[in-house]
Amino acid sequence: MKLSVCVLPGDGIGPEITAVAEKVLQAVAARFGHTVELAHGLIGGAAIDATGTPLPEATVAACRQSGAVLLGAVGGPKWDDLEPALRPEKGLLGIRKALGLFANLRPATLFPELAAASLLRPDIAAAGVDVLVVRELTGGLYFGEPRGETVVDGERAAFNTMIYREKEIARILHVAFAAARQRRKQVCSVDKANVLEVSRLWREVATRVALEYPDVELTHMYVDNAAMQLVRAPHLFDVLVTENLFGDILSDEAAAITGSLGMLPSASLGASSPGLFEPIHGSAPDIAGQDVANPLATVLSVAMLLRHGFGLEAEAAAVERAVRIALRQGLRTRDIATEGSTVVGCTAMGEAVVAALAAC
Ligand code: NAD
Repeated sequence: MKLSVCVLPGDGIGPEITAVAEKVLQAVAARFGHTVELAHGLIGGAAIDATGTPLPEATVAACRQSGAVLLGAVGGPKWDDLEPALRPEKGLLGIRKALGLFANLRPATLFPELAAASLLRPDIAAAGVDVLVVRELTGGLYFGEPRGETVVDGERAAFNTMIYREKEIARILHVAFAAARQRRKQVCSVDKANVLEVSRLWREVATRVALEYPDVELTHMYVDNAAMQLVRAPHLFDVLVTENLFGDILSDEAAAITGSLGMLPSASLGASSPGLFEPIHGSAPDIAGQDVANPLATVLSVAMLLRHGFGLEAEAAAVERAVRIALRQGLRTRDIATEGSTVVGCTAMGEAVVAALAAC
């Protein structure tokens, strides 16, 4: 199979971590008999410096022509004083919009080797965390109309609208069920159906979509309970699917409990356009250019790219196994180092993963 991937390194540690991820992609492709066709594009501060805009048209075109997009990170103090429309983050929002990405997939995995870094109580961490949060990305309260500010009884007031159409709910539920089929076959749909009409519709549609996936179990949970269960018993969750605002909060909570920012990948998917795969962390300008960044979140984003972008499950699993092997060898970048581990740089960690791939 030909894997055509557009790489957007971005700013800060972006170029270092995507360089490692490219090598891992090449290695896994060679191991499974695929060819890789790479294109590169500018985004964020790097694009502002070169072209005056955070998302040049050429980048959008290169992404559209590819089968998947791999992004490093954008932003940094150099561009902090620019007006909002010209800031690096606009590039990120712009590419998500241009590709019509409506589903955000954020796995939160606690690697047993890194349990000490977790914020969870040791007995809870010991049960493991392997949750995939599927967040609706383009609807709900963040985009609903009407929105704005008004005056009520002589006092300022502001309002937003949480609105979802059936089709918007159904398509994100389909993403969640499809993902669950590749995992432990459980979907937990999170809402606030005891209070919100929009949640009652969400629940109805979720129940209807579930009929198409008889092999997957669907449960419903109120969002306040879900926030609590994520820290009390995270091992109970397989796939957690929810609307935009709830997903924004719960995906950060799920990530935070693992305690390892440098380890967490993400995917944003659309209906037919190429998906976007990126680490959840930022451009870490404080450590850029020092070869100390943890490349594993980006390497694990390559695993997601193989799984969700190209449907290559065995190849994705091989990358994830290779990461585990490198960790089991005691190798750690500085951010996840503990007593007794061997601290390595970004490049060396990448080399260890590539070497481990030979055995996966
Ligand atoms: P950050 O995630 O970049 O960094 C937070 C802390 O975590 C820093 O101490 C950093 O050194 C460390 N860190 C992050 N990733 C790491 C890695 N892979 N290996 C080792 N350590 C790592 O968040 P921030 O400092 O709030 O933001 C820095 C810049 O990144 C800002 O300009 C922000 O707007 C941008 N940002 C971009 C994205 C994105 O591109 N998706 C996301 C968040 C923040």
